[in-house]
Amino acid sequence: MALLELDTALARMLDDLAPIERTEQVDLADAAGRVLAHAPVARTAVPPFPNSAMDGFAVRADDPTFADGGPLKVIETIFAGHAPQKAVGPGECARIFTGAPMPRGADAVIAQEDATTEATGIRFTEMPRAGRFVRAAGGDVHAGEELIETGTRLHAGSIALLAAAGVARVLVRARPRIAVIATGDELRPPDAELALGEIHDSSTFAIPAAAATLPVDIAMVLRVGDTPVELAQALDQAAKGADAIITTGGVSVGDADHVRAVLDEVGAINFWRLALKPGRPFAYGRYRDVPLFGLPGNPVSSMVTFVLLVRAGLLRMAGVSDLELPRSRLRLAAPLSKAPGRRDFQRARRDPDGRARAFERQDSNILSVLAHADLLLDLPASTGDLQADVEVSAIDLAGLLGQR
Ligand code: AMP
Ligand code: MG
Repeated sequence: MALLELDTALARMLDDLAPIERTEQVDLADAAGRVLAHAPVARTAVPPFPNSAMDGFAVRADDPTFADGGPLKVIETIFAGHAPQKAVGPGECARIFTGAPMPRGADAVIAQEDATTEATGIRFTEMPRAGRFVRAAGGDVHAGEELIETGTRLHAGSIALLAAAGVARVLVRARPRIAVIATGDELRPPDAELALGEIHDSSTFAIPAAAATLPVDIAMVLRVGDTPVELAQALDQAAKGADAIITTGGVSVGDADHVRAVLDEVGAINFWRLALKPGRPFAYGRYRDVPLFGLPGNPVSSMVTFVLLVRAGLLRMAGVSDLELPRSRLRLAAPLSKAPGRRDFQRARRDPDGRARAFERQDSNILSVLAHADLLLDLPASTGDLQADVEVSAIDLAGLLGQR
């Protein structure tokens, strides 16, 4: 079977996935990281009324008193949170503080640094200009305006905007529930003493850590041996309690690789071999009706395919519109070696000068490298060895692997 290009695989996978339909109302205080299922509308304008941008004096820009050199009489003091009681007429001004409503009649503010107080009133060293240091009502947001698009993940900035516009609750997508199933007779928990042939399972820890950056919930983590019966039991349990299933291992062509066979029997395989390094054995399909991402067993491959494929799939299910990976163009700090033929995602580090340095060891089982990598260099299939200072496309890994 021919190897599938990553972009083709990604497109096919996303085509098969849709946002889950469940939604819920949440208070703004619980909305960080959630995904909007509607576009909220401003209940109030921001700011709701014209107000001062400075501590100073509210004046009339066309007041003839300025031409005469003043002084202006202070008729009242207006603090933030308090309504002005008087209108400002010619020859008058109001002491005003930042955020306080502009009094009727006044259309400009003179900063207090530009004012001197005398027995007869206030004299100004600056001339006013209409609108100067006045924040217009609706200058940021108009009442009734659509604030943020559906499919946006909320963060501090967007939450601040919603709160300011008087939106207290938002309709968000439910977080997709994810089941993680590691396959392999050899797998033991990290605190186990190992018999010959056994290893500590790392993927059931790495995948939930990476998934913690996404708007999803890990509903269950299971570890099963290499028998079709055990695998089918775990998949049945997962299909009942989760919206998506992630398996690791067992997707190759070995005698102990059952994921593909089980999917063929009770579901559908979409594709299973990618023109990708690391991460060639990768399956996408459905178990019963539940989307299933079949990751390679090698723990570096499983993390790389999680970042390149599963992340986008889960974001799509979570209703997020922007599926792009965080990328930058970086120069290489040192030469790197690559065989032309397959698209390669090499683990690398950002040097203090901002250039990217690929690790020497790029085998898909070397976790000591993954642990220190903060970049994945996206090297096209045709690329061969590269010299220092060549520019490459790099994916910023830190945020994707769970460093929040
Ligand atoms: P497989 O794809 O099942 O043939 O596994 C490929 C390699 O990855 C083998 O060396 C496995 O022992 C290893 N491996 C599989 N699953 C895990 C896991 N959860 N944690 C660490 N290593 C794993
Ligand atoms: Mg295995």
